Amino acid sequence: MNQQVLAPEIRRKPILKQEIAFAIVHLIPLAAVWTGATLFDWIVCAFLYVFRMFWITGGYHRYFAHKSYKTSRWFQFVIAFMAQTSAQKGVLWWAAHHRHHHRHSDTPQDPHSMKIYGFWYSHVGWIVGPDFKETDYKVIGDYAKYPELVWLNKHYLVPPVMLAVAVTAIGAYVNGGSVFLMFTSAGLSTLLIGFFLSTVILYHGTFSINSIMHKFGNQRYETGDESRNSVWLALLTMGEGWHNNHHYYETASRQGFFWWEIDITWYMLKAMSWVGLIHDLKGVPKHVKFSKNKGHAVELRKEYEAVKKSA
Ligand SMILES: [Zn+2]
Ligand SMILES: [Zn+2]
Repeated sequence: MNQQVLAPEIRRKPILKQEIAFAIVHLIPLAAVWTGATLFDWIVCAFLYVFRMFWITGGYHRYFAHKSYKTSRWFQFVIAFMAQTSAQKGVLWWAAHHRHHHRHSDTPQDPHSMKIYGFWYSHVGWIVGPDFKETDYKVIGDYAKYPELVWLNKHYLVPPVMLAVAVTAIGAYVNGGSVFLMFTSAGLSTLLIGFFLSTVILYHGTFSINSIMHKFGNQRYETGDESRNSVWLALLTMGEGWHNNHHYYETASRQGFFWWEIDITWYMLKAMSWVGLIHDLKGVPKHVKFSKNKGHAVELRKEYEAVKKSA
């Protein structure tokens, strides 16, 4: 590898005019000082954080980026739609960039390496900057062959707008007694806290995996990158905190490899497989789980096979 390959790429700064909507989304929840907020609004906020985090990790990440389980074509669309209610751009955009991250993890071509580009760039700079706006359909050709997914990817704001309208109507009914109060503080407070605040917290929950999960925590496996495991981030992100495990064996649908590594997304995926919505969940082979690095895994596999033969 020569010096030129290792040199960081030139990453352009965000064009403020184009990113104004993203900045405004962060400020919108503050308008609740005028509407107030009810207990119901806070419950919706918590629910929508957990609900949508599940579809981000179980959908965008473990299904579309890594194909760690199988499902039907109609449920695949449901997964994509639900994941997109998070307002984190289109499903093919998300998964294609993530595949790119694994291919080039912590090298100059990594879209969001904290080691190379620093905390702010890896956290949010690459999202608001102009360099990663397009979807690379070649990288995600296995899903780009479905026209309904391409449509959803292009019209990525349809799911979050539908969710926002539904949340406002439900808030108007619960807080004010009628859905016709959507444009009064009864509905708007649910929109501000239930929808917008949870969307912003969700952004930073997801972004933290891209930034600090390659910095803080322990490294069980020698992956050749900076990926780490952290129980705290695993709890906040429903299993994504076992990021070193995940970089070591990315095709598994579970990221907590041991029983004590809490991975709520994995439990929910398991439950979905029991009712037949998804199937063929990929696990972690024993020789991978108990190895230190890829070479050691090969040795362990041979050892286990020899023991099996002699038994
Ligand atoms: Zn991944
Ligand atoms: Zn990573």
